[in-house]
This record gives sequence, C-alpha cells and structure tokens, in this order.
Amino acid sequence: MTHNAEQLQPRSEHWAVLGAGILGMTLALRLTQKGQKVTLLEARPNPGGLADAWKIGDVTWDRHYHVTLMSDMHARELLRELTLEDSMKWVETKTGFFTDDTLHSMSNTLEFLKFPPLRMIDKLRLGGTIFYAARVRNWKRLEQIPVGDWLTKLSGPRTFQKMWLPLLRSKLGECWRETSAAFIWATIARMYAARRTGLKKELFGYVSGGYARVMEEFRAKLLEAGVELRCNAPAQQVRQTSDGRLTVQLADEAAVFDRVVSTLPTPVMSRVCPQLTPMEKQLFDGIRYHGIVCASVLLSKSLSPFYVTNITDTGYPFTAVIEMSSLVDKAELGGSALVYLPRYVTPHDELFDRSDAEIEHEFLTGLQRMHPTLSLADVKAFRISRVRHVFALPTIGYSDRLPPTVTSVPGFYALNSAHIVNGTLNVNETIKLANDFVAGLNNLPFRCLSSCDSHPASELKPVQLVTQS
Ligand SMILES: Cc1cc2nc3c(=O)[nH]c(=O)nc-3n(C[C@H](O)[C@H](O)[C@H](O)COP(=O)(O)OP(=O)(O)OC[C@H]3O[C@@H](n4cnc5c(N)ncnc54)[C@H](O)[C@@H]3O)c2cc1C
Repeated sequence: MTHNAEQLQPRSEHWAVLGAGILGMTLALRLTQKGQKVTLLEARPNPGGLADAWKIGDVTWDRHYHVTLMSDMHARELLRELTLEDSMKWVETKTGFFTDDTLHSMSNTLEFLKFPPLRMIDKLRLGGTIFYAARVRNWKRLEQIPVGDWLTKLSGPRTFQKMWLPLLRSKLGECWRETSAAFIWATIARMYAARRTGLKKELFGYVSGGYARVMEEFRAKLLEAGVELRCNAPAQQVRQTSDGRLTVQLADEAAVFDRVVSTLPTPVMSRVCPQLTPMEKQLFDGIRYHGIVCASVLLSKSLSPFYVTNITDTGYPFTAVIEMSSLVDKAELGGSALVYLPRYVTPHDELFDRSDAEIEHEFLTGLQRMHPTLSLADVKAFRISRVRHVFALPTIGYSDRLPPTVTSVPGFYALNSAHIVNGTLNVNETIKLANDFVAGLNNLPFRCLSSCDSHPASELKPVQLVTQS
C-alpha cells in the first residue's frame, strides 16, 4: 500500500509528536501525508532514537546493531519511499554458539545435528519445539503460560537448562520467570516469517551506509513533507488548556497544539502527562521495561564468521557477540571489524552507574577469554550506549493489561513499542504501529470513551486500531 496526500479526509489540525525515533518519524510522515500539520519534538540532538548512528573511531555506523529481514514488508516499503530499497544488500549469515568454552557453528541442519553439548534425543526435541512454535497461531493462549513451563514441556528439562535458559537469561535476566511463552513464540515466528513467504532461507539486509544514511534520507523526507523537526527539545509536560487544546512545556517555552501523540516509553509518558487518571497511570506504570548497555568495539581483525554468537556458558559480562562486519562489507567500516557486546538489564541495574572505563575493562577481559588470540592492540575504539527503556517485558497475560492508546485527556494519545502485542521489538513492527494509527485517523476518538477513571485498570481495554496488512 502506498501513502499519499490523496487518501486524506480528516480536517487539518496541528499535531505534536513526542519522540523522533522510527515510530515518531513515521507518525510524523504519515500524518503530514494525511494533510495534518506536524511538529516533531525530540529530546536528543538528532532523530533516530534506538536506530540512530554514531561515530566509533573513524567509522560511522549504527549505535545498536540492526538488520532488516526479507519479510519486513512495512520497513521495506518505507525504505522504498526513501528511495533506499535499491541500496539494500542481502546476506546469508552464520550463527555460532559459545558452549563449554568452545565456539560451535550452528548455521545449518548438519551442524545442528553434530552439536556436541546435546544428545540426539535433545536435538530432536529442540528441533521439534522450533518446528511446532513456528506453526502456532493462537499466541493469546501462550500469553497465559510461563515461558519456562512451555519450553520444558516441549524440549525436555535437559535442553531447557542447557540451551533455552541461558538464551532467555541473556535477553531477560531473571525476569524470564515472569515472561510468557508468547515471547519465545514471537521470536521464532519472526525468524521463520521469510519461509512462510516462500523463501527457503532467511537473509539479513542492511542499507549501504547504515542507519546514518536512512536517518539522513528520512529527515530530508520529513522536511520536504513540511514537518517541523525540533531536536534538543525534550517535552517536560503535556496539559490540557482551558480552550481544550494541549500545551507542551519545553525547557524554556510552551507550545500549543490541537493533538499530541507521545511515543515515549510508558513510565516516562505517565510522568509527562499529570492529567491522566490514576487508573491510566496505573496501566502505564505497570508496564515493566528492560534496558540495555551495548558496547561497540572496532577491531583491526575479525573474531569469527558468525553474525550472532549466542553464549550459553555463564560468567560473561555480555550476553552475546554480534559481529556486524560478518554481514556488512568491511569497506563500509574503513576495513575494520565491528563487534557489538550487548547486555540486557533492568532499568535500575547497577551497570548503568558504572564508568565507561570499568565497563570497557570488564567487557574486553570477557572478550579475550572467549577469543584468546585477541590482543588489546587489536582494539581500535570502544564506545558504550546505555538505554534504560528498550522493550516492554511480555509478562503473563500482557495484552489484557495493555495501556490505552486513546487517553482520557482529550486529543492526547500514547503509542509506543509496548503496544506490539504479538511480535518482537523491531523496526518493521514499529512502522506498522504508526501506519495503523494514522490509517485509523478518521475514526480516532478525541478522548477515551470508556470512563478511564471509574473502571478497575484490569477492565480498561485498549482502543483497537485499524489494522492494515
Ligand atoms: C540493541 C538493539 C538491537 C536492535 N536490533 C534490531 C534489528 O536488528 N532489527 C530491527 O528491525 N530492530 C532492531 N531493534 C529495534 C529497533 O531499534 C526499535 O524497534 C525502534 O528503533 C524503536 O523505535 P521507537 O521510535 O519506538 O523508540 P525509540 O527509538 O526509543 O524512540 C523514542 C524517542 O523518544 C525520545 N525521547 C525520550 N524522551 C523524550 C521527551 N521527553 N521528549 C521528546 N523526546 C523524547 C528519545 O530520545 C527517542 O529518540 C534493535 C534495538 C536494540 C536496542
């Protein structure tokens, strides 16, 4: 489906979009394509959010590792609109497992069958689990089942302890105990989506120039469409004025809008809008987030042929090794190898307060333990990204406790990645959220129609947005 101004019906109003990540930028673009006037307010000096780029040493590449899948149709359509789809490169990647102090390749069925840490029966059950999960359609049912129970039942206790538990811990820490089976289902479903569309294997794609180029083109597209983009403009408060409009308080001025849509993480959003009802605040604050400390390491040599190395051994300070240069042409990286060392943590983890030097020392010591031939002289640059709110934990019964998109404050909407209920956090799902929101603009209520202040939070249902495929 293409998006253009002709599809437009609603009367033109002045919107503020809070947050210029992929979600805020796509909302801004789609709203202007529907004839709305849009001001996009971003706290940081540049747009892009989690998908922005930065400089590490003499290389500019993504602050967090990003790939596009062939099946990411919404993302690819946006890239087409930005005239970037032709600059995409598609690569078949390899996956490694670091288990029992050894790096194993797990990139095809034969390697999987040879994988020493598991017995043949374990492998059959593990393969069966993935095969079954990729075919499950009723994700709602899985939301009621703890992920540990589901995987143990399907794969057996040994495989759960040896394979699944380290993988769950690497993404969720100890919060895996409260996470539903829908989490692992969504992860498997995403990896298998390309096969459902007829492709035999999954390829990973990137735009030549990385997200720096995507953001440059996206920014230019927004400006061309008439969006007013204001960076270094953190929204401090949103309030309804006496004439029914909305004031957004910035550091040294207040701006007035007809409607405001926030893409901020729900706990931040709840603080920004004091006029939300106690019930709404309870829902927004009830979403539990996970954050990340993610190091980018520029090296003079490659570590392995694997894009992802999953770590099932304990005692490593990071939870995986992502070798971007096994996917991206090294010419894009000035001939260097680029490796990411992520560690997913809760928003209040002590790691956020540690100094860069401490983290660098700990992470590089861990990396040298894994790759004993790596010398510190091979490290050209090291840079750390810290983000406290990255994704909402898919806890048991998550979609029933989802905060409303349409709030009780007239004209104030809350939309963010916490509203991805049956998928994983990724750019494609994020763009779909924005597309669906704006596609439903004609029928968008001005305020929450159920009485958000009298119902128990558990009875408040999110407003269903129009879904386009
Ligand atoms: C380590 C990592 C790897 C990933 N890998 C992939 C991948 O391979 N493929 C993929 O498709 N996706 C990937 N993703 C997910 C992808 O980055 C996200 O889906 C997407 O960027 C989310 O965009 P967003 O706009 O919803 O949120 P964000 O990017 O978080 O945007 C929110 C914006 O709001 C701004 N903001 C915060 N407070 C305020 C305020 N008060 N006022 C104004 N602005 C404010 C922030 O600065 C930010 O720019 C990855 C994410 C991470 C962290």
